[in-house]
This record gives sequence, C-alpha cells and structure tokens, in this order.
Amino acid sequence: MTAFEKGTLNRVRVATRASYDQDTVFSILDQGLAAHVGFTDHDRPVVIPMIYGRIGERLYLHGAKAARFAKVLGGGVPICVTVTLIDGIVAGRSAFHSSMNYRSVVLHGTAALVTDPGEREAAMEAVTNHLMPGRWDEVRPTTAKELAATAIISFAIEEASAKARTGPPNDDKEDYDLPIWGGVVPLQTVYGAPEDDGALAPGTELPDSIRKILSG
Ligand SMILES: Cc1cc2nc3c(=O)[nH]c(=O)nc-3n(C[C@H](O)[C@H](O)[C@H](O)COP(=O)(O)OP(=O)(O)OC[C@H]3O[C@@H](n4cnc5c(N)ncnc54)[C@H](O)[C@@H]3O)c2cc1C
Repeated sequence: MTAFEKGTLNRVRVATRASYDQDTVFSILDQGLAAHVGFTDHDRPVVIPMIYGRIGERLYLHGAKAARFAKVLGGGVPICVTVTLIDGIVAGRSAFHSSMNYRSVVLHGTAALVTDPGEREAAMEAVTNHLMPGRWDEVRPTTAKELAATAIISFAIEEASAKARTGPPNDDKEDYDLPIWGGVVPLQTVYGAPEDDGALAPGTELPDSIRKILSG
C-alpha cells in the first residue's frame, strides 16, 4: 500500500483520525463533487469552490482563462485543495462534544498552467467524467474556440492527508446520566430524479453516464 510521506504540511495532529494512504486519499477525492481551492492573491488568502478531476497523482481544475484562479495559479504558485464528505451530525450531551462525522482530504502542491494539447484534453475529460462517468464520450466534441477559452490548472499532489471521524459522540462519563439525547444523525447526498431541460431532440434517452450516477 503506497502512502504519502508525512512532511511539514500534512501532519494531522489527532493521529487516530489520520490516514496518509494513497487509496484512502484517492477514494475520498473520487467520491467528492466540489473542491475548495486555496491560494494567495495579493498577499490575501482566497478559497474558491471548484469542480476537479484526478489523473493518478495529479489534480486538474478548469475554467475561464479570464478567471482569477487561472491567472494566479498559472504562475507556478503554492496551492492547497480540500474535499469534504459529510457523513453525519454528532449530537453530544455537551456543546463541547458535539461534532460531525466526515471524511476529508487536504492536498498541497504547486500549481501550473497546462499547455500540452494532449494533457489539456485528458484533463477536460477527467473533470467532465468526474461528475458523470463516461460523459466525455457522450457530449459533442469540444470546439477549438471552447478550448482556447479554457484554462487548465494542474498540480502534482506533493503532500496529502485524509482525516475521518466516525461513530457516536465521545461524551464525558458523568454526562451519560443526564436526560440529554446523544447520538448521530446520518447525512447522505442523494441524487433526485433527472429533469430533462424540455428541449430534447426527439428520441433522446437518458444517457449511460446519468444512469450510472443514479445507480450509485
Ligand atoms: C460547486 C462549484 C463548482 C464550481 N466549479 C467551477 C469550475 O470548475 N471552474 C470555474 O471556473 N468556476 C467554477 N465555479 C465558480 C467559481 O467558484 C468562481 O465563481 C469562479 O472561478 C469565479 O472566478 P472570477 O475570476 O470571476 O472571480 P474571483 O476573482 O475568483 O472572485 C472574486 C470574488 O467573487 C466572489 N466569488 C467568486 N466565486 C464565488 C463563489 N463561488 N461563491 C461566492 N462568491 C464568490 C468572492 O468574494 C471572490 O473573492 C464553481 C462554483 C461552485 C460553487
């Protein structure tokens, strides 16, 4: 089993909740839908929600060339990305022991603009398929104009950690005698029934990519 090395940036303080195992980190990344992308702009921290895609140990972001993230992150600067899956609300018998069950990752790297045409296309495919597996092969091909308007930012995951909390609250021993409810309210993200846009060409059916996300 391959693990990310513990470095200066990725050491989780509560070791029992930590994992540096690549499979664990990648599994959370692959289940997540949105990333929070952190970087510094004009000496100020900025965190922007974004879609992402993963190819091996690299993460890819895409968006308008004119967007700030593209301008700043294209310059080979530090980047920090987090992805969080929320599994439940933990109701402790005290505010102190109330919490959340979650699985999350924090990734550190150095961002750069992707210019190689082959890598750019692979990145767009990865980002598209991240939300809807196989969608890239179902949509009409991207035009040269669309490609020209799109910036692709990428970074190799240099340091990474996963952290997870599971289970009931860890209340203080004496608090279990109190008539206060303690436990977990599980939380799941579920897809609703697809709603077509009312403009389908005749005979158009629900594609495999959407069927796949609905079937889990
Ligand atoms: C779930 C999700 C996924 C997204 N995926 C992508 C993606 O893959 N590619 C992409 O280009 N964009 C994506 N966006 C939009 C993205 O978050 C930014 O809005 C976008 O990059 C704006 O760039 P900008 O240069 O116009 O703004 P910036 O210059 O980056 O932002 C200027 C200011 O606008 C405000 N702002 C910007 N974005 C947001 C926001 N999302 N919510 C609230 N305030 C905001 C902030 O105050 C920010 O400081 C996504 C948004 C969400 C919520």
